[in-house]
Amino acid sequence: MTKSKAILFGGTVTSYIRGLRCKECSARYAATKISVCEKCFGPLEVEYDLAALRGGVSKDKISGREKTLWRYIELLPVAGPEKIVDLQPGFTPLRRAKNLGEKLGLTNVWVKDDTVNPTYSFKDRPVAVAVAKAIEWNMDAVGCASTGNLAAATSAAAAKAQLPCYVFAPASLESTKLLAPRLYGATLVPVYGTYDDANRIALLFADRNNWGFVNINMRPYYAEGSKTLIYETCEQLGWQAPDLVLVPLGSGLLLTAVKKGLTELADLGFVRNGHTRISGSQPEGCTPIVDGFNSPSGLVKPVKQPSSIAESLAIGDPASGYEAISIIKKTGGFADAPTSKEVIEAQKLLARTEGVFAEPAGGTVVASLKRRVEKGEVDKSEKVVLLVTGNGLKTPSVLLSSFAPPTPLKPDVKVIENYLRSVSKW
Ligand SMILES: *Cc1c(COP(=O)(O)O)cnc(C)c1O
Ligand SMILES: [Zn+2]
Repeated sequence: MTKSKAILFGGTVTSYIRGLRCKECSARYAATKISVCEKCFGPLEVEYDLAALRGGVSKDKISGREKTLWRYIELLPVAGPEKIVDLQPGFTPLRRAKNLGEKLGLTNVWVKDDTVNPTYSFKDRPVAVAVAKAIEWNMDAVGCASTGNLAAATSAAAAKAQLPCYVFAPASLESTKLLAPRLYGATLVPVYGTYDDANRIALLFADRNNWGFVNINMRPYYAEGSKTLIYETCEQLGWQAPDLVLVPLGSGLLLTAVKKGLTELADLGFVRNGHTRISGSQPEGCTPIVDGFNSPSGLVKPVKQPSSIAESLAIGDPASGYEAISIIKKTGGFADAPTSKEVIEAQKLLARTEGVFAEPAGGTVVASLKRRVEKGEVDKSEKVVLLVTGNGLKTPSVLLSSFAPPTPLKPDVKVIENYLRSVSKW
């Protein structure tokens, strides 16, 4: 706890948490360490006293605060700023994507650029809130089951908070993603198999000890960090909700958090209610949520062997899949599955139009927007926000194979002039 934070929040911050509510059967619980409903095993979410909040927080109050996700502290499930030790994630740029929009034939496109978070993905957001709770509850360690980005985010946050950290991940992950947790001093538990295998075994360890597995037994709190992505987007649009938001889908939790965030801002009167189409995408090779959306039953059939170009989205059995589908349907959004080739082309397009180097998860939403514009499903002047959730420097291998290795040239004017003539685009 630093001095500047106490000053920032004026010393005292009222907590408006009312408790936890089951999303399936609406049973209510105190906001403690439980993560699933004891009656029906359904997922839980944090509820706030919105009536009291209306008097306690305002747009102006928020706008004057430090540029991190903690500017929304009254809307986050922490007791106060005192116990927060973190890397100050959030308040990432919302970039007006004029060049990309022109290429796609759209006039109002923005990129919410979460590639610049402390560990280069949006996962720093949910982790910040979960680790704050772990500190508050005096947990002995934190951990996660990860497809890569969560491993880095959890281990870095644990390092800052000086908590032991256990990362369960598929041993087959790209090597840069397995490097980060070890660099940050976490204990890496590389397991055979898929993310779902890692998740299942982590689940057993989470409850055995006083350990907070951020995306497992702290999931309701973890989700609250994710929603700050859409809070910021609305604030940066001048307290307006976008008409269309494109969300990359892993477990589907981010998409559900986008919906919760929008609903809360509307309930507080900060944005207009109900017009945002929330859309999701995942690339070919692991599309259980998109397939569920397209199936008559609307049910999610797990993918046993995901083989996705976007490792960070390769969750075969998505915990929030069903809820994500119902939100996409209710809001009139689309569920889209681009090909691997389209994803790579979209990563290049984003880089070359906006200077943003995204990982395949970012290429995925750009590719889906392009596909849906071509189908006539997006109006020219709709306010469109692309959630670009991870940095491409973490996943070079998918791109390296689409560029020939550079051939060195003699440092000679003639040689280089000839070379430039042969390759020049100008
Ligand atoms: C984890 C992740 C997602 C999806 O998150 P879920 O909440 O599991 O759906 C999207 N993009 C990136 C880069 C991620 O790391
Ligand atoms: Zn329940």
